[in-house]
Amino acid sequence: MPEPLVLIIDDEESMRDACAQILLKNKYRIEAAGDGASGLQKIRDLRPDAVIVDLKMPGTSGFEVLENLRLFDPQIAAIVITGYATVDSAVEAMKKGAYDFLPKPFTPEELRLILARALERRRLALEADALRREKKLLEENIITMVSHQLRSPLVAIQQYFEVILAGIAGDTAEKPKEMIRRARERLDALLNLINDWLDLARIDKGKLVGKLEPLNLRSLLEKLIEFMNPLAKEFGVSLEWAGAPGPTAEAFGDKETLEQVFSNLISNAIKYNKPQGRVGISLREDPDCLVVEIQDTGIGISQEHLPLIFDQFFQISRGESKKMKGSGLGLAIAKKIVEAHNGQIEVSSTPGTGSTFTVRLPKAPPAGATD
Ligand code: ADP
Repeated sequence: MPEPLVLIIDDEESMRDACAQILLKNKYRIEAAGDGASGLQKIRDLRPDAVIVDLKMPGTSGFEVLENLRLFDPQIAAIVITGYATVDSAVEAMKKGAYDFLPKPFTPEELRLILARALERRRLALEADALRREKKLLEENIITMVSHQLRSPLVAIQQYFEVILAGIAGDTAEKPKEMIRRARERLDALLNLINDWLDLARIDKGKLVGKLEPLNLRSLLEKLIEFMNPLAKEFGVSLEWAGAPGPTAEAFGDKETLEQVFSNLISNAIKYNKPQGRVGISLREDPDCLVVEIQDTGIGISQEHLPLIFDQFFQISRGESKKMKGSGLGLAIAKKIVEAHNGQIEVSSTPGTGSTFTVRLPKAPPAGATD
């Protein structure tokens, strides 16, 4: 580490020299400036560790220097010297970020002590900043790291199970086979959870939602209705447009993640439905957005649970079968994706009657308005 660089800004040459003389005895590198403007210039160019500045100078005053120096280095150690030490000016200088105040005349010892203390505070603050940055980086990466490392061995186990179940490794009796089938189901659920978790981490880092483009929501929903009909049949539920399919006006969105949102909402509407229940999809155009509603005639959500429904890991325990068990992250992910589109997602529900999830998405800007 090089010795700390100290910049002295004072219009009086004798004062600059006196400070320099005092400080040169310690291990400092010294620079000096004769006015506020050239002082700021030197702060910008030389990035000193500490600044000793006279409050009263012609032109750019010491206060102005104080106001601006933090733009270059928020942790700079600033010490103010002045001949007219009043409580008011001291308070004002401190408010503007000075570490300490040195009224003239001062002894060499006073100057050395105050500077050493200010530099020590700067060292600690810089250390704390570095630790904070490191912690943030760790937090940002930990989920991604851990989940990737969990995923690989699980995928390998999944493949072994497939090989055993397909009989490729030789015959397996029905009982162990059944156990492996159950183990595979648990493994699938675990992998789904890890994938959801990774999605959340990517959204939090602003990485999941791709480029927003004009998008035909009606055809996206049409395909999902078709694609998800087998699941609906499995649950004995109908899945169709509620009324006419809706306008063809384009939304402004990322196809892949919006498909994820709607398939999640539709699969919830199917899973949490009743036998012979219905899921109706509608799309309409409002003046400034497109509105999709997914309405089900299912078990509904109680008033007390409604505010929690978009929270991570929130699940309502209703003794549901394994088939319905998810990660409790689906709606949290859906909300983050919709919000990354500058859209909104809402829910209304009547227990025993059904729920409606409403998603509002911005319309595509007129052609030529984007590059
Ligand atoms: P999960 O993976 O458990 O489905 P979600 O985040 O998608 O997680 O949903 C959270 C909880 O909200 C679910 O466990 C369920 O209890 C409730 N829920 C979601 N959608 C509906 C719905 N259409 N009808 C009733 N309950 C719902």
